[in-house]
Amino acid sequence: MSNKRDYYEVLGVTKGASTAEIKKAYRKLALKYHPDKNEGDATAEEKFKEAAEAYEVLSSAEKKARYDQFGHAGMSGAGGFGGGGMNMDDIFSQFGDIFGGAFGGGGGSFGGSRGGGSRRVRGTNLRVKMKLTLQEVAEGVQKKIKVNKLVSAEGVTFKSCQTCGGSGRVTRVSQTFLGAMQTQSACNVCHGAGKMIDKKPAGADANGLKREEDVIEIDIPAGVMEGMQLSVTGKGNAGPFDGVPGDLIVVIEEVAHDKLRRDGENLHYDAYINFVDAVLGNSIEIPTVSGKAKIKIEPGTQSGKLLRLKGKGLPIVQGYGSGDLFVHINVWTPKKISKEEKEILEKLRESDNFTPSPDHSDKGFFQRVKDIFH
Ligand code: ZN
Repeated sequence: MSNKRDYYEVLGVTKGASTAEIKKAYRKLALKYHPDKNEGDATAEEKFKEAAEAYEVLSSAEKKARYDQFGHAGMSGAGGFGGGGMNMDDIFSQFGDIFGGAFGGGGGSFGGSRGGGSRRVRGTNLRVKMKLTLQEVAEGVQKKIKVNKLVSAEGVTFKSCQTCGGSGRVTRVSQTFLGAMQTQSACNVCHGAGKMIDKKPAGADANGLKREEDVIEIDIPAGVMEGMQLSVTGKGNAGPFDGVPGDLIVVIEEVAHDKLRRDGENLHYDAYINFVDAVLGNSIEIPTVSGKAKIKIEPGTQSGKLLRLKGKGLPIVQGYGSGDLFVHINVWTPKKISKEEKEILEKLRESDNFTPSPDHSDKGFFQRVKDIFH
């Protein structure tokens, strides 16, 4: 009798999902319910196993076909799960690569000795802020950053943890109405490492670590945004008791450009032209993120006209193509004029040509906003 959930439902994919979609869905669940993130949480462990089992079936064309035809009933017997499901060792040996280093290298933070219980303790993540100019954002950049981080001190020796006997786990037996129940949890003396520091040099802390300055080179992809976090696997603080290092988390901060304003992958520039250029037309120079560009002002250009320079915005991070550069044309009205200029303008005021008579091609503010956002 099977009370298992439908595998498609477990992974949250449709029957028509591609292999890549199935893998992606599984990876998301596996990371969410990974034992490293859910220490001692039995529900998470069940979910982790359930997802692995669903993935084991749906990622194999042959098993998937059998499951599609017969459901869970088709899965028992040779190669199936009978009802026992998968154990953790199976999951890590079969699907360890799916974590892609998210847990300190292919699920390696379990140190390959899950059965024994001890595991390598993961170091903490190191967070740094990084200021980038708009040009660096546009082109992507390689940066060297100096960090002060915890590293394993040399000359530290270890001995087995007396509390857990080196297994990294402690077992508690409690009486319930179902009988004696055993619960296992990580040893709180060695944090699951199974070992303790025997001798340490001066300067090393209780975890066998010391602070050291390190220079880390990181590649910032083009198109990143304020507040985005990039994670560099294994470049964080070293793990206690010779564990695995945490990650370096780089938080992006954007330095505002003095002329260009960013809106996602698009850029905006306010151009001011003089009244005569607006009437007669001209060519003007505008800044771009990487230099300058010349744009043509057509005769009879209205203030508020919006020009779009395709592809002159910022690259889309982890995507294709680039945004655009929008140039907002503002006609500059002089604030001080000479007596002669005033006389000329007074004459022009009388001309019929200077009476506003917008037609449909002269878009006002509301229409321009509509054009951009709809
Ligand atoms: Zn212990």
